[in-house]
Amino acid sequence: MTLKTPEEYFKSIQHPVNLYMFGEKVEEFWNHPIIKPSINTVMKIYELAQMDEYKDLMTTTSHLTGDTINRFTHIHQSVDDLIKKVKMQRLLGQQTACCFQRCVGFDTANALYSITYEMDKKNGTEYHNRFKKYWIEVQSQDLMVGGAMTDTKGDRSKRPKDQPDPDAFLHIVEERDDGIIVRGAKIHQTGYLNSHRAIIMPTLSLRPGEEQYAVSFGVNTNEKGITLVYGRQSCDTRKMELGKLDVGNFKYGGQEIFVIFDNVYIPNDQIFMNGEIEFAGKLVNRFAGFHRQSYGGCKVGVGDVLIGAASLITEYNGTEKASHIRDKLVEMVHLNETLYSCGIACSSLGFQREAGNFEMDMLLANVCKLNVTRFPYEIGRLAEDLAGGLICTMPSEADFKSEEIGHLIEKYLNTSEETCAEDRYKVLRFIENLTMGLASVSYRTESLHGAGSPQAQRIMISRQADLTEKKKLIKKILDIDLK
Ligand code: SF4
Ligand code: FE
Repeated sequence: MTLKTPEEYFKSIQHPVNLYMFGEKVEEFWNHPIIKPSINTVMKIYELAQMDEYKDLMTTTSHLTGDTINRFTHIHQSVDDLIKKVKMQRLLGQQTACCFQRCVGFDTANALYSITYEMDKKNGTEYHNRFKKYWIEVQSQDLMVGGAMTDTKGDRSKRPKDQPDPDAFLHIVEERDDGIIVRGAKIHQTGYLNSHRAIIMPTLSLRPGEEQYAVSFGVNTNEKGITLVYGRQSCDTRKMELGKLDVGNFKYGGQEIFVIFDNVYIPNDQIFMNGEIEFAGKLVNRFAGFHRQSYGGCKVGVGDVLIGAASLITEYNGTEKASHIRDKLVEMVHLNETLYSCGIACSSLGFQREAGNFEMDMLLANVCKLNVTRFPYEIGRLAEDLAGGLICTMPSEADFKSEEIGHLIEKYLNTSEETCAEDRYKVLRFIENLTMGLASVSYRTESLHGAGSPQAQRIMISRQADLTEKKKLIKKILDIDLK
């Protein structure tokens, strides 16, 4: 059986890593209260894949082995696969209300699959078969794979080769007969710690003289020479408190890691690009396209939960019947479904690459993500509007549960006989958490910068826009010379 149970997954990540948080080394990260919710989130993926109800979305058949695999390890074989990917991501967003972390490696694999094929075709290399072999291992062990793209980039006005510190972009520092040695850092690494392996990619298009930066490879996440530093998130120490309600979403969470590679050895059979500068930019854009498609699913699922929370709090507040409240909820749904429409649309217009796999429509994937940089902010603003100012003035759970004053807070937080003050407290904290606290990383900042900042999507949209064709349209209608 290729599918891991959630418990098997949990056991399988219990290995030593060189991890730091708050200036201290962390042992047994899987038991750390700040990290555990992010592991629960990934366990949910493994759990749903075991359930008959979700089998069609969460699992599929490998085109490489014919075995049943988790969809997060699949190489898309049809437009239907592309659509199911987005539906699966919405489902997981609905079930966890946060970033579930496993899409980055998924999107990397789908980009590398065709890029390695095209590199081999042009240069006679053997990356494609090597990658397929590597990926069969991932599928057959149901591994979680991270995808690492973003370098620290040093001085943004300078090219990688002109940086005062050459490590500002991850690069090859030594070539050996049996492999390479790499150095540098990758930041914003979603779910890296919860992954068994990671695939590293270049961060931008490269030019002659920058061959040492054109490198892609697979690596075990705890390989010798790798240091991890846990990314802190707003209000994260609330997870260290005795109570759990102030955390908001106390079951699930995301995870971002600062990953430092200090002379890490990569054997030849894990290298998928080595110096092919003309393919670096293609890999970046193709990966980004797949990940921009992803956002039309995952953020929509989280949006569904936030809309549910906003609707529930109006019920608890006794305002749900007011027409302007209903209007705002409709507006939230409209914005959220627009994002979903973009995710489904770029999948529906997917096409087959020469390598045989299917890819989303690049223009619509970028339109999807550009909308994601805006709409969740508006949905969040409307949720705050409907919840009221209590989301950021409410006393702590310790006060709410205090023997001396707890009854007073409860008395004044009660709204009606049908409403339980603690339930109201929970929902208000959830909205606070998602719009401005811990989970705002997953829903807001990640919507803005994840899969590339808005300007990156504008550049891709302008490249795909084909204004010459559009000018021809108007010329034809007005009988203007077409030349
Ligand atoms: Fe997946 Fe969304 Fe998280 Fe990216 S931001 S890893 S697409 S859940
Ligand atoms: Fe992301």
